[in-house]
Parts: sequence; C-alpha cells; structure tokens
Amino acid sequence: MTTRKKILITGGAGFLGSHLCTRLIDEGNEVLCVDNFYTGTRDNILHLLDNPHFEVERHDVTFPLYVEVDEIYNLACPASPIHYQNNPVQTTKTSVHGAINMLGLAKRTGAKIFQASTSEVYGDPEVHPQTEDYRGSVSTTGPRACYDEGKRCAETLFFDYLRQHDMRIRVARIFNTYGPRMLPDDGRVVSNFIVQALQGDPLTIYGDGMQTRSFCYVDDLIEGFVRLMNAPDDVTGPMNLGNPGEFTIRQLAEKILEMTGSKSELVENPLPIDDPTQRCPNISLAKEQIDWQPTVALEEGLEKTISYFKEVI
Ligand code: NAD
Ligand code: UDP
Ligand code: UDP
Repeated sequence: MTTRKKILITGGAGFLGSHLCTRLIDEGNEVLCVDNFYTGTRDNILHLLDNPHFEVERHDVTFPLYVEVDEIYNLACPASPIHYQNNPVQTTKTSVHGAINMLGLAKRTGAKIFQASTSEVYGDPEVHPQTEDYRGSVSTTGPRACYDEGKRCAETLFFDYLRQHDMRIRVARIFNTYGPRMLPDDGRVVSNFIVQALQGDPLTIYGDGMQTRSFCYVDDLIEGFVRLMNAPDDVTGPMNLGNPGEFTIRQLAEKILEMTGSKSELVENPLPIDDPTQRCPNISLAKEQIDWQPTVALEEGLEKTISYFKEVI
C-alpha cells in the first residue's frame, strides 16, 4: 500500500509547471504531466523523465481527459503576451474549455482542483495595490482580452462548480513571476532583458518604461501554490500570489544592465495596446490564510536567473 498522492499538472512542461512537477515529485507524489507542448518543452522536464513516479502525456486540455487522480493543478495556457496573442481563439478555448474539462474530471474523481489565474483579471487597474475584492478594468475586445477574459471566465466556472457541485477548489491570482526555465524567446520582460543584455543587444523598453510590475521569484510562487492547495477546504481564493516589491520597467532594465555588466543601450519601442500601467499585489489574504509571503528579493532572484541564461544561450 502506498500513500503517494496522484497529482495531475496541466501545462506541466511549461515554466511554472516544470518547477511544480519537480517540487511535487521531490515530496514523494505520483505526478502526471499533461501538455500539448505549445510553449512548454521536454527539456524543462528532462530531469524527471527517468523517475518511475513521473509520467508525461501529450494532450490538449480543450479535449476531454479521463484519468484517475487525487489533485489537479490546472496551469495549461500560454502566459506570454506574444504567445497567447499568436492564436487568440485557441487561448480562450484553452482557458474556458480547458477549465470545463478539468472541472468535469475533478467532479467525476472527487479530486481537489487548483486554477492558475492571473493578475490580468484586474486589467489596467484603478485600485493600487490590487486586492482580491477589486473587480478589475478589462477590455473585452482588445488584443489581451483572449487571455484576460478567458481567465476571468475560468474563475467563474470554478466558483459555479463550487456552488453547483460542492467541489474542492483553489484559485490563485498569479502576478508576474520569473526564474530559470523561462524560454529565451518567451517574450516576457525579464527573459527578454537578460538575454538582450547578455548578447549585447539593445534592451527593448516598450513605451517610456514608467509602467510598473512586481516580480516574484519562481520558488516563492511554487511554495504559495502548495500551501494554497494544502489549506483547509474553506480557503478557496481567489488569492493573490506575487511579490509586492514594485519597480518600473526602466528600473528593471537598469538593474539587469548593472548586474550583467552589459554595455547594451536602452531603446524605446511602441507600447503594446492595453499594456497595464501599474501592477502590484496586496498579499494580506495569503499572509493571513496560508501564512505565505515571498522571501527572495529581486536582486537575488535575478542573480539565479542570469546564471541560468548564461548557461542556455
Ligand atoms: P508557459 O507558457 O511556460 O506554460 C504554459 C504551459 O501550458 C506550456 O507548457 C504549454 O505548452 C501548455 N499549454 C498551453 N496550451 C495548452 C493546451 N491547450 N493543452 C495543454 N497544454 C497547454 O507559462 P507559465 O509562466 O508557466 O504559466 C503557467 C500558468 O500560470 C498559465 O496558466 C499562466 O496563465 C499562469 N500565470 C503565469 C504567470 C507568470 O508570470 N509566469 C502570471 C500569471 C499567470
Ligand atoms: N470530462 C473530462 N474528464 C472526466 C469527466 C468529464 O474531460 O473525467 C469533461 C467532459 O468532456 C465534459 C466536461 O468535462 O464535457 C464537463 O463535465 P461535467 O460532468 O461537469 O458536465 P457534462 O458532462 O454534464 O457536460
Ligand atoms: N516589456 C518591455 N520590453 C520587453 C517586454 C516587455 O518593456 O521586451 C514591458 C511590457 O510592455 C509590460 C512589462 O514589460 O509593460 C511586462 O511585460 P510582460 O510581457 O513580461 O508581462 P505582462 O505583465 O505585460 O503580462
């Protein structure tokens, strides 16, 4: 007899998913990683492939999936704006049909289910820092809507399944997270700037660089995921998970230049449509309900991420 939990991670070959697979395998669980490899790679999970308690299945979550599991972490969805806007209809389908299928699976098996939601549900926020009760300012028709509205609808589905079928749900609103295993061409700001700095290319600041983001190191975030999943069942979220340290994009660029010793220049490119001007989590709820807060400062996390990119590029 074994007490290992069987855990399904959708999007398990992606940036966050691969760290979560590693963490849950290290804790002695059986992990089933389901991914269509749209933005994920086998390289991200190469170190796990020989482990008899780890399994990978190529599958698109917009189609039904019949497996037997105790817990589900639903992470499948491209997260970088360039990738989620490349095929926006598929992005909405992934969030909405993917959520329906995974909730259906959780309903049939009685599994507990976690949703990787996002700070994008707040859109371009008028409330700052963002608290969970803020309802957001989101365009329904702009280029980011496929992602933002898809994730908002997924949250709706989670709470409707909770009310209608009395399920065990967890919804995390993740703020910008970075770290090793982001793809060099992922397109998000931390990986772009580090790769540009290391290659001596200009750092591409979109707009004037005065927009802000709050950057969480991946290990801190994964700790938050596991704590939220293991919390009592009345702790459903939505719960902000992110680092409240707030920086302008220009400050981030300057810090990365300084830390890499790069002579790259800063260039201004056009600001993408609907790019949020500010973003910072209020994490009081996470502190109170799961005793969580980030422990890795930006400089320390960037150090590890820069070392990673020095190896892979
Ligand atoms: P990622 O793009 O590296 O990972 C997403 C994974 O999902 C990839 O492996 C991809 O191949 C897979 N995928 C995409 N569509 C799929 C489908 N239809 N079926 C099966 N697999 C599919 O992104 P990430 O940063 O690891 O993000 C993981 C999750 O966390 C996403 O749901 C994202 O929206 C959410 N999130 C991430 C951040 C962040 O800063 N990293 C912030 C907010 C929310
Ligand atoms: N589903 C799945 N795996 C399962 C059970 C259900 O993928 O183990 C999918 C199925 O395709 C269904 C969806 O989840 O369309 C929602 O299931 P639910 O039972 O909530 O709704 P219904 O089947 O009544 O539409
Ligand atoms: N950004 C930038 N240069 C880049 C990539 C992104 O200035 O090469 C900016 C982008 O316009 C946004 C912020 O950095 O204001 C964060 O972008 P990212 O794509 O990482 O995530 P978002 O929070 O927009 O989803």
